[in-house]
Amino acid sequence: MCSKCTILDVDAPETLQSAIAFFSDPQRAFDAAVEFRWPGGNVTCPRCEQAKFSFIKTRRIWFCYVCKKQFTVKVGTVMEDSPLGLDKWMSAIWMLANCKNGISSYELAKNLGIRQNSAWFMLHRIREAMKDDSRFKFGGEAGGPVESDETFVGADPRKMHARRREARYKALSARPKTPVFGVLDRELRQVRARVVPNVKRETLQNEILNQVHRGSKVYTDCAVGYDHLRKEFVHEVVNHAKEYVNGQVHTQGLDNFWSLLKRTLRGTYVAVEPFHLDHYIDEQVFRYNNRATKDNKLTDADRFALVMSQVAGKRLTYSELTGKDTDSVCHPEAGTGQEEPF
Ligand SMILES: [Zn+2]
Repeated sequence: MCSKCTILDVDAPETLQSAIAFFSDPQRAFDAAVEFRWPGGNVTCPRCEQAKFSFIKTRRIWFCYVCKKQFTVKVGTVMEDSPLGLDKWMSAIWMLANCKNGISSYELAKNLGIRQNSAWFMLHRIREAMKDDSRFKFGGEAGGPVESDETFVGADPRKMHARRREARYKALSARPKTPVFGVLDRELRQVRARVVPNVKRETLQNEILNQVHRGSKVYTDCAVGYDHLRKEFVHEVVNHAKEYVNGQVHTQGLDNFWSLLKRTLRGTYVAVEPFHLDHYIDEQVFRYNNRATKDNKLTDADRFALVMSQVAGKRLTYSELTGKDTDSVCHPEAGTGQEEPF
């Protein structure tokens, strides 16, 4: 169990069912949220970071004497301005952090008794909290070797019904699949992945230079995009036309991650716009990098605690997410994310 979980008391939930029961008590949910956000009860104003305030217990809000404004535990987090209660937020965070193939906004809406478009927005905000912002480079003396690979996400037009394929091409002007680039540090057992504009040599090499220490061992397939890596890295190649594994030289770790990602996209999310794909990748990367391993026995409660500890300092507004006005959240057709099925 990680140190963050000691925040919850001895009756701390270990399963989804007990989490829902635990956080259904507003005071308990509030106490836990405060402790995750300000460990040790060191509350500070999210606007001015001062600790000069009074607390209005009945309304569970603080009044800052410095900026003369009120704040709640949600201000300055991904939950800011959300009318949904902490009980719903915490149950949703538990589910998204722990369901291996993610959870659709339809399922979440049904489970929590909220509208589907609210659930959709909520899930995107939780993905924002799950996003790994660490900047250190993979490989180097401490880590490695590093696998690097790219994949394409999207429905395969060859497998579509002819009528659907035709309609799709008309609607999307034959937009191809979306390229996604990834690196995996075998020693750290961590992956990073994101959408890239193309798989040209320059794009892939820049990605690797940004993510991997110069001089590290890098394993790739023999795609032309990886030519010239030898100048900066110890580059070894596996020729997928001949074999998939050549001793230590393979990209099986990343292949495994790609299949998890595609299973989630095909099985649960079904309708993802390329514009939002990075958020779904962040979600899958979070669960992959925080999965239980032999040496690191992370539990569902640990993953939940980790997301809760990352909700602050991040915001994702409805207009940022959709390019639409906030008011449109009230319209049932808004934010269903069904523009392009994968
Ligand atoms: Zn203040």
